[in-house]
Amino acid sequence: MDWELPVIALRSLVVLPRTLENVDVGRPQSKRALEEAQASDNRVLLVLQRESRNDTPTGKDLLEVGTLCVIKQVIRLPDDTLQVLVEGRERAQITGYIPGPALRARISTIAETGTDREGGDVQPLIDQTKSVFSDYAQQNKNLRLDSFHLENLKGLKEPGPLADVITKYATWEVADKQQVLEEPNVAARLELVLGFLSRDLDRFDTEKQISARVKQQMDSNQREYYLREQMKAIQRELGNDEVSEVEELRTKVEEKDLPEHAKERALKEIDRLEKMSSGSPEATVVRTYLDTLLDLPWSEADEEHLDIGHTEVILDEDHYALDEPKDRILESLAVRQLTKGLEDSDYKAPLLCLVGPPGVGKTSLGKSIARSLNREFVRMSLGGVRDEAEIRGHRRTYIGSLPGRIIQGMKTAGKVNPIFLLDEVDKMTADFRGDPSAALLEVLDPEQNHTFTDHYLEIPYDLSKVMFITTANSPGPIPQPLLDRMEVIRIPGYTLDEKVEIAKRYRVPRQLKDHGLEGKIEFDDGALRRIITEYTWEAGVRNMDRLIAKVARKAAKAYLTEAWEETRTLGAREVRELLGVPLFRDDKAEKQPQIGLTHGLAWTSIGGVSLDIEVVSVAGKGKVTLTGQLGDVMKESAQAGIAYLRNRTSTYNLPVDFHETRDLHIHVLEGATPKDGPSAGIAMATAVVSALTDRPVRGDVAMTGEITLRGRVLPIGGIKEKLLAAHQAGIEQVIIPKSNEANLEEVPEAILNDLKITAVSEFEEVLELMLLDRDPDPEADFVPPQGEHPPGERPSAQARAPKL
Ligand code: ADP
Repeated sequence: MDWELPVIALRSLVVLPRTLENVDVGRPQSKRALEEAQASDNRVLLVLQRESRNDTPTGKDLLEVGTLCVIKQVIRLPDDTLQVLVEGRERAQITGYIPGPALRARISTIAETGTDREGGDVQPLIDQTKSVFSDYAQQNKNLRLDSFHLENLKGLKEPGPLADVITKYATWEVADKQQVLEEPNVAARLELVLGFLSRDLDRFDTEKQISARVKQQMDSNQREYYLREQMKAIQRELGNDEVSEVEELRTKVEEKDLPEHAKERALKEIDRLEKMSSGSPEATVVRTYLDTLLDLPWSEADEEHLDIGHTEVILDEDHYALDEPKDRILESLAVRQLTKGLEDSDYKAPLLCLVGPPGVGKTSLGKSIARSLNREFVRMSLGGVRDEAEIRGHRRTYIGSLPGRIIQGMKTAGKVNPIFLLDEVDKMTADFRGDPSAALLEVLDPEQNHTFTDHYLEIPYDLSKVMFITTANSPGPIPQPLLDRMEVIRIPGYTLDEKVEIAKRYRVPRQLKDHGLEGKIEFDDGALRRIITEYTWEAGVRNMDRLIAKVARKAAKAYLTEAWEETRTLGAREVRELLGVPLFRDDKAEKQPQIGLTHGLAWTSIGGVSLDIEVVSVAGKGKVTLTGQLGDVMKESAQAGIAYLRNRTSTYNLPVDFHETRDLHIHVLEGATPKDGPSAGIAMATAVVSALTDRPVRGDVAMTGEITLRGRVLPIGGIKEKLLAAHQAGIEQVIIPKSNEANLEEVPEAILNDLKITAVSEFEEVLELMLLDRDPDPEADFVPPQGEHPPGERPSAQARAPKL
């Protein structure tokens, strides 16, 4: 049906047919439409406007479908708006507008379709919609329906009205409601309504879940906050200032650049601390732990200055001589420099191990490396470490427990990439408390040490940026797995001349400076030589340094009383006056030929030493006594020599049955020092021959070499150290095994110039050189077999040596 009706535009309301609605009318344009309607048959068209903010909408600002309504009641409110009760009647399509003072539209009503349904197949839809709506009504807090409305709704049997009434009650957007209004087909309309309802139910569910989660979160936060506050109050009541301490610690943790796992751990410990009473022993444990954790470097690093040229300059600046060790260090650093940053490099930098007697500059080389690379230096001694816990720390079960030495070292370093010198790896021992070398292996292994775990710290600590350097007095006792990872660099010890140079260039200037004596005194070479030869007995320069300091102290005292003007030079005489009686004779070796006395050479952890070997032979039953703290190898070597001699009694004019009629006592001097190794073999055998034949042995020759059962002389180790020792002992000639000749390259020129070296391969050659005549009677002399030695190799000892 076509009509012409006044139009009231609605800002945000959709009026549905078959429903009552209160509409506030305030705009003049709408009031006029209302008046027009009241003047005719109370019918009016209510339409939603497209833009709710538009105050004076015209036809084009309104939607095309509206509701034909009848005005039931109009109430004028105090503010002059009119409250109009309308009843929706029919859907209406606007077909055009008629110009005039009020909005008027031409409309045609929209007939409902689908009402003449066949087979009643909308019934399930109706039932379902009703049930869903009852859920909706229950869950939607914004919907306030009393039971009257609900009952009314339940009574609706037709889909169209049901859809319209539900839409009126539902709290949907006007757009949704308009959609329902525009649907002429009743089944489709009800489906639309059901769709909106189900959508809202889903939304309610999600909202419920979210709000439950939020609530839970808030509850626990609030609870924690509340408890914390309460605890603070209690603590304050008890007079504890814990609160501020804990807060301070938290700030510290936040400010320090800790890796995630360390931070987490620290905060956890702080939480624990907070709950403890401040005076309790546990709190002390936790506090020390936190201090350790916060004092450790986790990310602080020195910027490395990896430049071989620069390192070379620094090493030379700090150390005299030591050419080979310096070269080896530089080579190793060069490879590091080249492989640095190569992702795919399999190169594992070997661990440097500086091996040598005390005072030869191992530590000081380490310091120089650190200085040249611009890295921190820390040193830790492994001497006497016998417990794994010293490396790895003690579990935090008692108050005194501490982290291991590695972690303590890192704390001292304060940087994650220091040069870490592990001193005396050879002095570490294993016992029932666990093997420290296994722990050390983990520390040193680049594949494992980025997650080094200290028992005390309990969380992994990254050691991979540390450069470890180890030192040892001798490589022998170093556990094999460790040794395999090491590049051993030997520093054997210094010659007298080198020591004098070290003193002149480094130690004397240093000591004079430290004692405030610069320009007041100086040492001449004679003084230094005397200090070195008469007051020290060492491979390194540590005691020399101490004595220079001692002389400096005495000189300082003298200066204060005498206050001389010019620089005073201290010579050998002044040294003797200041230091008193010499501790060692310069000329240590007994150089006069003696019966049963030879000079052997040995290599010990303090460097090479000359060993005097004495043998006496007395009538007896063939007993052999060995004294002087000899190791098994050394004893066996003496036995081997004797066995060989028993076999050659006639060659050497020995009593044929000496093994049955003579007792031999072999004594190696300096009885307090333990000695071992086969290298005194020829020296012992020579002394035995001398004792058995009563023929004197030369005292100006020292010897070293292993003897076999068949009289061959085998090579030995430590040639350089032994020759240094012989030189220091004032020996002029040294017998060495022929196979050791190649090692002479390592020996300093100065030493080789002073020493006469004779290389031998057979024991006979030794005897030929060493044994002197017993008396002028040539009959009794030993005559070595002819034709067995290369001509020229054999010096005529008898001719040169003094006869007794
Ligand atoms: P080690 O660690 O081998 O026992 P140190 O490094 O402690 O020996 O050395 C002892 C002292 O001798 C240090 O003051 C060191 O500087 C000095 N020193 C050792 N060798 C040399 C050298 N070649 N040149 C200069 N000084 C040296």
